Amino acid sequence: MKEIQMASPSAVRQVLQARGLAAKKNWGQNFLTDSAIAESIAAQVPPDNLLYEIGPGLGALSQFLLPRAGLLALVEIDPGLAAWLQQLFAEESATQRVDILQGDALELNFDAHAQQHGFANYVICGNLPYYITTPLLKHFLCQKHWGQMVFLVQREAAQRMAARAGNKDYGLLNLMIEYHAELDFLFDVADSAFYPRPEVQSTLIRFSRRPAPAITVRDEHLLFATINAALAQRRKTLVNALKNSGLAPGVDWPLLLASIAIDGQRRGETLSLEEFGMCSDALWQQLHS
Ligand code: SAM
Repeated sequence: MKEIQMASPSAVRQVLQARGLAAKKNWGQNFLTDSAIAESIAAQVPPDNLLYEIGPGLGALSQFLLPRAGLLALVEIDPGLAAWLQQLFAEESATQRVDILQGDALELNFDAHAQQHGFANYVICGNLPYYITTPLLKHFLCQKHWGQMVFLVQREAAQRMAARAGNKDYGLLNLMIEYHAELDFLFDVADSAFYPRPEVQSTLIRFSRRPAPAITVRDEHLLFATINAALAQRRKTLVNALKNSGLAPGVDWPLLLASIAIDGQRRGETLSLEEFGMCSDALWQQLHS
């Protein structure tokens, strides 16, 4: 690794300037400029794994992650930043300690990539680009072989992840998190730790995969198809949302909901994960009888 400490305001400005780059808003580029914070984020990442960093940017966090990783895979969408990372980690790339993947993290099949590199499981971390936090988290949660994930996210986004049934912020992401993971809030990071300064504060969060999903259902795909159908039209009652969804057209939804004592006049977003589980299992029974 080049002897250059990236988590500092001067290094960030110098490297951007020298390479004719600018912080791009549309890719959520707010670079960490505080090495103590970068170090304390890295300290939360479990050691000795295949470690994916999403959006490594100029490498401020990557430098502290490197000594903790078995293999550090850097997933960066910006070709200019990926070229800089190649230079910063030239030695580690040559010795295969660092793998630089230039592309969109939403399109990477992490399970398949890890398997190709001989790892049964892995860790994902990063200072996430705020504009796609929710799609990224949904994509990661759908992968089967991560053990832990540690992310810096916008503080409000972190707060929304804790929403419970009935809350206006409660939705598919909350249910996916509850099903797959335990979520911990680690610490806040002030806007002054970034260049350019974002208009929001950030929070470091950790997802730990549950040893088994929070509920047991007949068919996980059917569970999430039911959740999607129920939440797709949030102004409609549960029974109307399910009827209109096109999921299982022949099913008598009022009867099905009555059989599990769920009031079809409720809104989908008032149902708990357990109630969605009951709904999808009742549907499974009907589809298989
Ligand atoms: N990790 C660096 C740091 O802390 O200084 C940069 C973090 S910055 C908030 C987000 C980074 O994610 C940027 O480098 C941006 O180019 C990258 N990025 C944005 N969208 C991405 C995507 N879909 N896939 C991979 N990287 C992405």
